[in-house]
Amino acid sequence: THFGFQTVKEEDKAKLVRGVFNSVADDYDRMNDVMSVGVHRLWKDSLLDSLNPRSDMHLLDVAGGTGDIAFRFLEAAPRGVVTVCDINAEMLRVGKARAADRGYADRSDFVCGDAMQLPVENRSVDAYTIAFGIRNVTRIEDALKEAYRVLKPGGRFFCLEFSHKVVPLLKSVYDSYSFNVIPKMGEIVANDRDSYQYLVESIRRFPAPDAFEEMIKVAGFSRTGYRTMSAGVVAIHTGVKI
Ligand code: SAM
Repeated sequence: THFGFQTVKEEDKAKLVRGVFNSVADDYDRMNDVMSVGVHRLWKDSLLDSLNPRSDMHLLDVAGGTGDIAFRFLEAAPRGVVTVCDINAEMLRVGKARAADRGYADRSDFVCGDAMQLPVENRSVDAYTIAFGIRNVTRIEDALKEAYRVLKPGGRFFCLEFSHKVVPLLKSVYDSYSFNVIPKMGEIVANDRDSYQYLVESIRRFPAPDAFEEMIKVAGFSRTGYRTMSAGVVAIHTGVKI
């Protein structure tokens, strides 16, 4: 087999495979730390502050990957439940194993699905989060419509994403970091320059905060707004389904 495990028992194999995906996720999380010099943790904490979880809330975290947002939520909301949806089954597998390790198995559900066509019932969740995910979605409008569809009336939408509205004084430093340093680090740390080049370009192509807010309104949301952090490197957009 690919892993060369022909002779191992079924349960041992499951453990080994889990180990392989754990290391994929560990790489992913380590790269996040390297690229953002650890600041992605603070950005994610800010998203949770904005969300201000109620104890018994049902959160849908889309593009939830290995569970970074979900675990913060479950810690803050002692009776809350979370559905993590991601298009990548390997990320979900790692997230699910981590949930079990942390004792969150009974309050979390990991489902494979596309943000543009969520495998989630109409009007079934109290809040929707998407962190560093919507930028990768082919048709952002479709993802926003889906967010609106699955939220209960009164439900809230939160999106944490890179923004490129960096304050002018920092702009040239940021540009040179993005276009030169990040692809180079991708090459050195993950041996994958192309993916990190893509990362930088996808940030560039993503709509500016005002334009993105307009798209959130068009999807049907009220009381929309956003705040930027780290001098405009990232933004948190919010909206409410009335
Ligand atoms: N939210 C996590 C975090 O902040 O650490 C993961 C962010 S990661 C940069 C982007 C995630 O988006 C990946 O796990 C990827 O599989 C997922 N993704 C990309 N396109 C998607 C889509 N159309 N629908 C759902 N998930 C998607």
